[in-house]
Amino acid sequence: MAIYTCGHTTPDSDSICSAISLAYLLNKIGREAIPARQGELNPETSFILEKFGFKKPLLKTKFAQEELFITDYSDLDLAPKDINEAIVVGIVDHHKLGGITTSTPLECWIRPVGCTNTIVKEMYDYHKVEVPKDIAGIMMCAILSDTVIFKSPTCTDIDIKVVRELSQICGIEDFGALGMEMFKVKSQVQGVSARELILRDYKPFDMYGKKIGIGQLEVVDLSIFDDIKQDLQNDLKALRVEKNLHTACLLLTDIMKEGSEILVSSVDEKVFEKAFNIKLEDNKVWLDGCLSRKKQIIPFLEPAFK
Ligand code: MN
Ligand code: MN
Repeated sequence: MAIYTCGHTTPDSDSICSAISLAYLLNKIGREAIPARQGELNPETSFILEKFGFKKPLLKTKFAQEELFITDYSDLDLAPKDINEAIVVGIVDHHKLGGITTSTPLECWIRPVGCTNTIVKEMYDYHKVEVPKDIAGIMMCAILSDTVIFKSPTCTDIDIKVVRELSQICGIEDFGALGMEMFKVKSQVQGVSARELILRDYKPFDMYGKKIGIGQLEVVDLSIFDDIKQDLQNDLKALRVEKNLHTACLLLTDIMKEGSEILVSSVDEKVFEKAFNIKLEDNKVWLDGCLSRKKQIIPFLEPAFK
């Protein structure tokens, strides 16, 4: 029986590239594996796969009775709906431990680094498998994406070391330039609907019984949102009502200025204001230095719901 490698819902570059890089490794060590994805690719990920000549992984949302190696999450809210009927054989991830449990022993590679692909590279080293040139390219791009070209507070020395190694293998020395090219692709928002932008990199959370949704858009210049910010705020509110959320947020992250403007729609804004010790003005606030949803938003927002 083949093992499916698959990342979270609303897949990002790390989820897609780690499914591909992990599947290759598993096949190399004699375990048949097929990379899969739970949703459509974002423009950045399409750019990466095209650049290194990969096809999209298989679209798959049902895993009952199938072997699944999870990448880039361990949260139930980000899993396929039938996760409890799947046979989870492993998890490779770099987030806080989520709620997934298993009925059989599993292989766990969970480490506090900036990207799942950094850990997958360590799995290659552990199994003494060489990373092929094209796979090194997509792994490197995923790390540059997740760490915001090393600027994110989630980035560690291990991520930087692994990017250096992968850049040697794939023959792209100026990885900073490639990183900027990726973020420019990410910054293209013209002609895209507000809903599509909010959901492009969106994660649902359960915080002490309250439903929260947090999207993030990382761009090289926030002024591209000037004309559409009101639409984004209106649609954020519509989304909150439709999905019956307590709070819906959208992080507009400026990777050059290194901070985020947070748009907030909430049934009780005071929870958000208390969490970050700020006052919202017109349902938004600029948080200087804030680049990471995982490290700079969730650990503050979640305790506010306790
Ligand atoms: Mn991810
Ligand atoms: Mn990741």
